[in-house]
This record gives sequence, C-alpha cells and structure tokens, in this order.
Amino acid sequence: MEKSPSSSPDFSVRDFFKRFPDDDACLAHIMEQRYGLKGICPHCGVETTFHKISGRKSYAGADCGCHIYPCAGTIFQDSRTPLQSWYYAIYLFIATRHGVSAKELQRTLGVTYKTAWRIGHQIRDLLAKANGFEALRGHVEIDETFVGGMQSDNIGRSRKQKTVVLGMKQRKGRLVVEVVDDYKRSTLKPVILETVEEGATVSTDLLRSYLLLEHFGYDHGRVNHDKQWVNGIHHTNNLESFWNLFKNSVRGTHVHISKKHMQRYLNEFSFRSNHRERVNLMFDLVVGAL
Ligand SMILES: [Zn+2]
Repeated sequence: MEKSPSSSPDFSVRDFFKRFPDDDACLAHIMEQRYGLKGICPHCGVETTFHKISGRKSYAGADCGCHIYPCAGTIFQDSRTPLQSWYYAIYLFIATRHGVSAKELQRTLGVTYKTAWRIGHQIRDLLAKANGFEALRGHVEIDETFVGGMQSDNIGRSRKQKTVVLGMKQRKGRLVVEVVDDYKRSTLKPVILETVEEGATVSTDLLRSYLLLEHFGYDHGRVNHDKQWVNGIHHTNNLESFWNLFKNSVRGTHVHISKKHMQRYLNEFSFRSNHRERVNLMFDLVVGAL
C-alpha cells in the first residue's frame, strides 16, 4: 500500500519545506489568503500595505497602524501546536492517497494521541468546507454502499455496525458522498434533489428507490449489476472505484470508523478525489476555507 506523501510528484515533501520553511511562512500564507498583504484594512477601511510585527503572530497596517491577527477565528487560533506542524498535517492529508491515521500524525508531529486525533478531525472539517457546494449536473452516477464500522450501544458495548453511504458523482466533475440512515426512497429523495440538478442524466443500479428519479425530471438509466457493468452510456464505475479505495483505506489505515465520524472521513476522501493532482493549489483552497 502506498502511504508515502512523496507519491505526489507535483509537490514533494522537499517542496513543502521549501514553500513553508517555518511558522512565519505559514502565517504569511494565511494572511495572504484571508486578507492579502495589500488592500483595504478590514478594521478601518484605509487602503494600505501590511507588514509582519516581529516576534508576534500579527500584522500591522503601514498607513493606519491597525493590528491584524491572521489566525483569529480559525482552528489555529488557540492551538499550542506550531503552525508549521498544522501545515504539515494538512500536507499529509492532501498528498496521501489513503489518508492519515491519528497514530501516524502523533508520530510525525510529535504531539499526544489526543491532540493528533483532534487535529485530524479539524482538518477533515476544513476539507469539507473547501469541497464546494455547487449542484451536480450533466451526467451523474449515483450508487449506495455499506461501510463497516463500530458503534457503541446504550450500555457502552461496541458492536460492528454497517453504515449506509450514498455517492453522487458528476462525470468529469465533483463527487459528493453522504452518510444516510437507510436506502429507502423517502430517505434518499431529499439528498438527491438537493445535490443533483433537475434535468441531469443519472445512472444507477436496480435499487427500487432510484425510481423516484423518474418523477423529478431526471433522465434515468439503470444497470443490472448481476448481468453487466455497462449499459450504453450508463454505469457507476467511477463510484465503484471510489468505494474500493475508501474501503481498502479504512481497513489499511484506520481499521474501524464509527458511524458518528464516518462523514468526516468521506469528506476527506472526496476532497482528495475532487482536487487530485493539484496539491500545491490545495493549500490555498484549504486555507481559503478557514
Ligand atoms: Zn486600519
């Protein structure tokens, strides 16, 4: 299994340390993404340039003297973990195909397991925000699957529990993956109507719930997976490959994911799938979502 971040040729570990050699370089990046180094001061409205105040995590307006704290209101604000460590963690998340476990983060960043676990989830939430919200259109594949996981029952015992997940993938476009309670028609309907634009061509398998598509203005085609994988233009192969990658990675990297946290991992994997091969730009996207 490939786990090394060096698997992203466009932005190697060496490139990372060149672009973000220390905490100040990371702070400058946050400043640029959130406010810019030149422009209208967000406090007083004067047009100015900003320069770093030495020894502090802030910038000052050259013409107005206002102080700006680039990390204010972000996940970095009250963190004792150095900015460069945060950035390196983000790098691992966007450059590593199979994801990063809390154990790996703990080892790589030299923080406690608890801190590593929290950092991981905060980054996953950030990736969800950076993922975008525009509706899927054109030709869209929809497919459901079960992902294994553990869930605590009401007396604290863990038991294996499968989580139902619905995937929606625009051909040559964005992937959206949502945890759902079950695959009944009434459960899937609001999720699909909110995510896929009316009039889209939709490919699914034979699950009866998908017949709802025919009542809501979609051009619906089905594939009988007992007999074939492709039916003319209709197949769900893009989602099949995503399910394979996700399930193998969960087994290899995370072992088990509870239903409660499943959505965060799906956001992480769909973010990578949506922005593949643009690791360098992904930093701007992720930090822009702060
Ligand atoms: Zn000002």
